[in-house]
Amino acid sequence: MTLSNLASHQKPPAVDPDQRLHMKMIAHHVWQLSNRFPDNLFNVYLIEDVLIDAASRWDASTLLKRLANIPLSQVALTHCHPDHQGAVKRICTTRGIPLACPEGDIASMEGQAPMVPRTAAIKLMELGFAGPAYPVQRSLRDGDEIAGFRVIHTPGHTPGHVMYFRESDRVAIVGDILRNNHPITGKTGLYEPPVVFTLDPEENWRSIRKLAQLRPTLVCFGHGPVLTDMEQFDQFVARLPS
Ligand SMILES: [Zn+2]
Repeated sequence: MTLSNLASHQKPPAVDPDQRLHMKMIAHHVWQLSNRFPDNLFNVYLIEDVLIDAASRWDASTLLKRLANIPLSQVALTHCHPDHQGAVKRICTTRGIPLACPEGDIASMEGQAPMVPRTAAIKLMELGFAGPAYPVQRSLRDGDEIAGFRVIHTPGHTPGHVMYFRESDRVAIVGDILRNNHPITGKTGLYEPPVVFTLDPEENWRSIRKLAQLRPTLVCFGHGPVLTDMEQFDQFVARLPS
């Protein structure tokens, strides 16, 4: 029995009132955690007992507090960037849980290769937000399953980037293949990830189209509020360069 199979037999986490304030249920067995001000800056999700992404290193204490007494079986990343892997080491070591990382981003996560692309913006982000390198216990490949979600390889933003998709209600947790706030003003709206943080924007367009083909009903981003307006999403995808 895998960890996620085990998780599917567990009840949803019982949270105390204070934690409940910071955990928003957005779909069956899916919660969005608020980690630091402002909300939706660096998103972290809990699906059953799996934490998806781990924000920045400055979020570790807050996330650990918010997740206290909540069963956690593993941390799974959408990709290895400073604002997604920052609190991995603190959370995994404190809670004694393994790290799952997309195959193509493992070298970056383990510190054997730099995070990409090697732009000044990424280097600055590493200085400001990255957490320490940490060993990966589970390599995620296209078609793998985590807590009822299918792992889908969506390269472009990083080589290994994945999204998580649940067929039963078509909920998608999409990391940074697109975002729902402006990277500078923070204003809500759909945008491609900034090119300074994206290795291959054209490959990323293909990944966004891969998401569109799945006809999601709820899209959960690495940055910005969740989206249920699929007409808005379809219009955004239609405007992408071909
Ligand atoms: Zn990213």
